[in-house]
Amino acid sequence: MSQKIQSIRGMNDLLPQDADVWQHLQAIAAEVFAAYGYRELRVPVVERTDLFKRAVGEVTDVVEKEMYTFEDRGGESLSLRPELTAGIVRAGIEHGLLYNQQQRVWSSGPVFRYERPQAGRYRQFHQLDVEAFGLPGPDVDIEIIALAARLWQRLGVSGFRLQINSLGTPESRLRYRAALTDYLRSHEAALDDDSQRRLASNPLRVLDSKVPATREIVTHAPSLLDHLDAESAEHFIALRRGLDLLGIGYQVNPRLVRGLDYYTRTVFEWTTDQLGAQDAVCAGGRYDGLVAHLGGASTPGIGFAIGMERLIALMNLQQAPVPAHAPQIYFCRFGLQAETAAVALAEQLRDEWPALRLVLNAGGGKLGAQLKRADASGARFALILGDDEAAQRTVQVKSLRGEGEPVSIGWPDLLQHLAPRLGLSATVPIDITE
Ligand code: ATP
Ligand code: MG
Repeated sequence: MSQKIQSIRGMNDLLPQDADVWQHLQAIAAEVFAAYGYRELRVPVVERTDLFKRAVGEVTDVVEKEMYTFEDRGGESLSLRPELTAGIVRAGIEHGLLYNQQQRVWSSGPVFRYERPQAGRYRQFHQLDVEAFGLPGPDVDIEIIALAARLWQRLGVSGFRLQINSLGTPESRLRYRAALTDYLRSHEAALDDDSQRRLASNPLRVLDSKVPATREIVTHAPSLLDHLDAESAEHFIALRRGLDLLGIGYQVNPRLVRGLDYYTRTVFEWTTDQLGAQDAVCAGGRYDGLVAHLGGASTPGIGFAIGMERLIALMNLQQAPVPAHAPQIYFCRFGLQAETAAVALAEQLRDEWPALRLVLNAGGGKLGAQLKRADASGARFALILGDDEAAQRTVQVKSLRGEGEPVSIGWPDLLQHLAPRLGLSATVPIDITE
């Protein structure tokens, strides 16, 4: 026997028994996004490395340490996307969707980061991403946060903490940066190595450090909010007022940052204390400088990304209601005539009820074996058709979940019989003539 090939560390399979919750999340998310006028935009999984260097920033963990970068056969440097925003902005510019327009878009799919795999942290994970372009005011900041809040509510998950902050403008941030650098310099020796390096290149990033000693120092750092320009302060007040009006609770965290120059004003993060160390479920912010930074005409933007694995973990933990997709009917058949008649009957049921989940037994087997499969499938009812039934043009309907005794039903009446039991309505009697 040849050696087994295993999956790559940090990259997960999604097995059928776990698919219901993913499909539910995707369906509800698509509904909520559409309810706010956001439309789907899909971008490739692979882009030029330079796009991510520019969009995510060279002095970030993602670009410095976490990207899957390779040369294609033509010698070009490409990378697996570590997030979705970069590709969306690239596509928006390329297709002329951003210039002088308002766009509300969403996207979702796998993203890749070479991190140390652990619970809630994977090398291939999935993001749900929402972005709005061409809207500079706090009204859309409020909209996008309300949209996330509605998603949590529709999914039946709760217990989030929403933190918000304002980064001001690039100019006001320069003043803050000077104050922060002064403060951090006075504690330089106690900072971790990465933070010492970033002190020169990108000190705001230090606020984001996960190293406990650095975090302690950061607690007493000067506050961004004390350095805001007047307009940004106004924007932030309007955001807070809007969230208050909607009854969306939040905490102001003056140390919440995105360490890149094109980020402006609003940043926010939804965290939970129910998932251990990997506590951020959704992170976002305004990036009024990004489109220009990637070569487009200056266009404001704001967006967020949800880590789907973490949200799903929360849904599972809180036992959020998820519709099951087990079959409703398992159709047992044996005998030459019955096998053929069952195909026709099954197709008629599917004609009448396109969403009906019906498994038609395949691969033969005795009645007992077929009923075992029926039970294992999770179906509510078994239909049983042997040659005797076929000769009489009847079928047995047997509950697999203790809902009464088996009954024999004539083919024409089958739809009418099943309809109330499955919570469906039937329009025509069954008619098979073969
Ligand atoms: P973290 O601080 O947890 O590393 P991040 O700041 O790197 O998060 P973002 O780049 O803002 O995360 O990505 C948005 C969301 O994607 C996060 O809030 C989180 O829910 C999720 N996420 C980030 N990295 C991973 C990962 N390696 N595995 C699973 N989910 C992740
Ligand atoms: Mg990270």
